[in-house]
Amino acid sequence: MDDSYLRERKAAVEQVVERLLRALQGTQGLTSGVHGGDDLVLVAHDIAPADMMQFKQGVFRGFVTDIGGKTSHTAIVARSLDIPAVVGARDASRLIRQDDWVIIDGDNGLLIVDPSPAIIDDYRVRKQESELSRQRLLRLRSTPARSLDGQTIELLANIELPDDCDTALAAGAAGIGLFRTEFLFMNRGRNLPGEDEQFEAYRRVVQSMGGKPVTIRTIDIGADKPLDTDLDYRDGEFTHLNPALGLRAIRYSLSDPAMFRVQLRALLRAAAFGPLRILVPMLAHARELRQTFEQLDLARAELRAAGVEPGPVEVGVMIEVPGAVLMLPLLLRHFDFISVGTNDLVQYTLAIDRADESVADLYDPLHPAVLQLLAQTISLAHAAHGWKGHPVHVSVCGEMAGDPQLTRLLLGMGLRSFSMHPAQILRVKQEILRADCSRLAPLAQAVLGELEPEGQERALAALAG
Ligand code: PEP
Ligand code: MG
Repeated sequence: MDDSYLRERKAAVEQVVERLLRALQGTQGLTSGVHGGDDLVLVAHDIAPADMMQFKQGVFRGFVTDIGGKTSHTAIVARSLDIPAVVGARDASRLIRQDDWVIIDGDNGLLIVDPSPAIIDDYRVRKQESELSRQRLLRLRSTPARSLDGQTIELLANIELPDDCDTALAAGAAGIGLFRTEFLFMNRGRNLPGEDEQFEAYRRVVQSMGGKPVTIRTIDIGADKPLDTDLDYRDGEFTHLNPALGLRAIRYSLSDPAMFRVQLRALLRAAAFGPLRILVPMLAHARELRQTFEQLDLARAELRAAGVEPGPVEVGVMIEVPGAVLMLPLLLRHFDFISVGTNDLVQYTLAIDRADESVADLYDPLHPAVLQLLAQTISLAHAAHGWKGHPVHVSVCGEMAGDPQLTRLLLGMGLRSFSMHPAQILRVKQEILRADCSRLAPLAQAVLGELEPEGQERALAALAG
């Protein structure tokens, strides 16, 4: 494209074209008209997180995309569907043809096209084994998540929609650690959910969880989760050059205070029905902190003026940018709890776009800088005991919390609350049951002390036992 303005807005133009095509085909949703029996997989250049949500009905058995990273929201939603997916497979959509046979090995990030009978047999056996180990894990469902040295660990669920509470409860979750409410706003065109509809959704979650704590995050719109309406001009722009660094999360909410207060009022109303915590994403500035609490006070006043008594809420903040870690003393003073969003913390610490497959090899949750920030966050939250009279509750809700290979490291750093996709809860619990936290603490310290890859590998091997 010669026109540099259009060239920079390629993604927006592509999305518009895709939507136009869909409208011309007269299909409402992406899945309408798809009949593939049981063995259909979707291979696409890209799938937006909003589109992925439409596959919750279970039309496809697996997904492959050319672009995207392991912690992109497309991959996160695929993982919550608990079906195999490989993202960032570059030329897959060009090379794979209709009716080709493929094996999607999501665990190893492998895609095998036209596999030989021997490979198919091998994967059939692996599939059976994985099914068996899932069945075995189910026995742990009501076992308390307690380590060998008697530490009780809180295992919470991440959800995208109120219906996901069923899966969370089935996995034995102790509550909801992260409800990504922006998914309520997707695939809605201009018809965004109003206060009553949001209130019903939040109340449903609170009531479904039957008294267990529910953490609801205010919308994290922006970056790879734009609203349909954002495709129109917003402040004279189509989209922005670096959306991950742009108007997203709390910045987005504060840019539209009326919309923000609709959500806050709905949350405060739902809080009357059970324990509800409000979680604010990606906050890093004292000014944002002040504005957030001002909007919360205003939302309470608006409810009272309408004769509605707001319910009690705890208010927490997500730690997602290194700046927020360095601002922790201020944040810990004002918020009731913190939750570390490691997906973004890795992205912003290492300057690696989590949705860009061309730098996916550099996206490293074990990077010493990331581990230092994480350890510092956990220990500062605990240290609040000294001046606040009690430690500040700290949890991790990024994908690191649901990775059983990292459980021992996080326990060793002092983490006692993990929030993850329900499908991961029992695997992580299994690790906890085998762990002795007091023994892990010095081993985790040793990992933190290593900057050289070889030294870190050795320290991690010692930690793995
Ligand atoms: C995170 O960044 O780790 C997180 C949990 O939030 P999200 O993945 O929705 O950005
Ligand atoms: Mg995040």
